[in-house]
Amino acid sequence: MTDRPVRTRYAPSPTGNPHIGNIRSALFSWAYARSHGGKFLLRIEDTDRNRYVESAVEAIMESLRWLGIDWDEGPDIGGPHGPYFQSQRLDLYRRAADRLIELGRAYPCFCTPERLDALRAAQAAAKQPPGYDGLCRGIPRAEAAERAAKEPHVVRFAMRREGVTVLEDVIRGEVVFENALQDDFVILKSDGFPTYHLAVVVDDTAMEITHCIRGDEWISSAPKHIQLYEALGWTPPAWAHLPLILGPDHKKLSKRSGDTALLDYRDHGYLPEAMVNFLALLGWSLDDHTTILGIEEMKRHFDLARVVPNPAVFDIERLNYLNGHY
Ligand code: GLU
Repeated sequence: MTDRPVRTRYAPSPTGNPHIGNIRSALFSWAYARSHGGKFLLRIEDTDRNRYVESAVEAIMESLRWLGIDWDEGPDIGGPHGPYFQSQRLDLYRRAADRLIELGRAYPCFCTPERLDALRAAQAAAKQPPGYDGLCRGIPRAEAAERAAKEPHVVRFAMRREGVTVLEDVIRGEVVFENALQDDFVILKSDGFPTYHLAVVVDDTAMEITHCIRGDEWISSAPKHIQLYEALGWTPPAWAHLPLILGPDHKKLSKRSGDTALLDYRDHGYLPEAMVNFLALLGWSLDDHTTILGIEEMKRHFDLARVVPNPAVFDIERLNYLNGHY
């Protein structure tokens, strides 16, 4: 895997203006590609039509441009390189779902929202973790196919439940997940759109992504993705889950403690150089002493080996100090 040319991506969902933590993922992913002579792709993950915000795509691109992050390739949509939009790639996901059904690793599920609500309520009452109980997994294949041709349904992936799934994370090391705690998750929704889990695996494969660099909040999805790769017989990328960003109070970063849209900082007069410097040091360091560094140092020297697994702390005082420096 490592002998393939490096290809990374930033894959935001267009649900609003990208926030600090999200843009830090973009910066690290971009810097890794640039420092290894690779390619960096921008992929808009717009498969959740309910959460789609029209202005978000422009805000994403504007945030990247403001910091000096450029991207390569993509279809020619209003510019030389993309970005890619998942909503324009629905066939690919459908084909992967069909293949999984053929392989016996996915099945149509006809459970109504009412049944799923009742199941969730019963699980909560019994102090059991929420999760699908696999009812439709038991429908004989021919009957399921016949019903799927006329009834509304989703497609679920049949997770392996025995044993463990092991993630070899570049930053976190080995992370072991108990398969007994997993459930059969949805890969294709009733509107024919894929869920994030299927789309990310299909696209990271189709786009030949070598390093999937993303926020720590996705680590719990890794076993789903690993099992999808296994079932489809595809080679997964290297995974690197970036450390959480905590507020100055060491609690989860919230809007109040600074996790607002990147463009708000721009609009309040912060300089892009200060912001890049600030974001760079949220979990990474060039060496043991350099605190002033910019996009050029990132472009040349960024490596995942110096990203720490423990949470980074968002400190507005540091941002203010850096802003005064530039
Ligand atoms: N669409 C996801 C997000 O908005 C991307 C997660 C990933 O990078 O795989 O954060």
